[in-house]
Amino acid sequence: TMEFTDRVTRVEPSATLAISALATELENEGADVVDLSVGEPDFPTPENIVQAGKDAMDAGHTGYTTSAGIIDLREAIADKLADAGLEHTTDEVIVTPGAKQALYEIVQALIEDGDEVVLLDPAWVSYEAMVKMAGGDLTRVDLSESDFQLEPALDDLEAAVSDDTELLIVNSPSNPTGAVYSDAALEGVRDLAVEHDVTVISDEIYKEITYGVEPTSLGTLEGMADRTVTVNGFSKAYSMTGWRLGYFAGPEDLIDQAGKLHSHSVSSAVNFVQHAGIEALENTDTAVDRMVQAFRERRDLVVDLLDDHDVDVAVPEGAFYMMLPVADDDQSWCEGAIEDAHVATVPGSAFGTPGYARISYAASEERLKEGIERLAAEDYL
Ligand code: PLP
Repeated sequence: TMEFTDRVTRVEPSATLAISALATELENEGADVVDLSVGEPDFPTPENIVQAGKDAMDAGHTGYTTSAGIIDLREAIADKLADAGLEHTTDEVIVTPGAKQALYEIVQALIEDGDEVVLLDPAWVSYEAMVKMAGGDLTRVDLSESDFQLEPALDDLEAAVSDDTELLIVNSPSNPTGAVYSDAALEGVRDLAVEHDVTVISDEIYKEITYGVEPTSLGTLEGMADRTVTVNGFSKAYSMTGWRLGYFAGPEDLIDQAGKLHSHSVSSAVNFVQHAGIEALENTDTAVDRMVQAFRERRDLVVDLLDDHDVDVAVPEGAFYMMLPVADDDQSWCEGAIEDAHVATVPGSAFGTPGYARISYAASEERLKEGIERLAAEDYL
């Protein structure tokens, strides 16, 4: 028989899988499930990006590339980072098959047995799994008492961060809350990171998707350039989830170490996909604006519909999720909602915050209305 490592056995299978399995089962039985559980935009990839991918294939860009990614894409990424105030040479950028791989490589390069990592809860599910696989210990700071904002919870963060803290992961705009952290909050993070010599991952994958606020990149704050790793990707802003394209940028010594993991595991991101990525960065402002506008209208719709049922939510300022306050036992609530109302959501406990369910509003207005109506009709609101 096979003996599995502690590394994998200590990681739980994703709680979201139980919900998708139930949804699939119901659909197979012929039920019409309103799926508000998915973490991906419901728009097609903009046509010019698809065309750039096809053109790159036709032009023969089908072989291996430099492990860190083709230079033209790394230049386009460095330019984009510079627009946000982040100065990086192309040697400080690694292109990955998705932001998830970027995060995995960074955590593997920085965290080993017993290292302490601080998360802001609710936090995206894979951070916990990645830290556990690396052997790290988690300290979690709960933001649910402050409408998921970080600024009012800075005292709690201060209590959580110490000289033993190796890494802090910040994700703004946040999955699952849609919160965008204020500059004062980020300055608080900076002060603690500098005081305790902590490395910070700034996961900015939803940075393009905001509603009237401009998120500051953590790495632009004084004292943060040499301790911040900025992560981003193409999945959300350009509706490119299945293309698998992302990147990270950080201090060169981290890039050198993580680069070894990268070259010995994935080798590189897909060649023609990287070419499509250049098109995405250089020629898609209007398509992105249109998607963001649609998300904004849907957010307003869902907030209004919930308000009609006297349900108050922390209004998201970015990404395409919101946290719905539900019963204490959120897992049962989510299972019931899918069985009785045929509406799929993700339990807050998957993100470290029981008592909530995550709704994704990356769905049509019609489906969103249908979903809320069904939840109300079955007494889930
Ligand atoms: N970071 C956050 C906060 C996410 O929500 C996701 C996707 O759900 C990712 C990273 C990874 O995205 P990808 O690997 O598709 O680039």
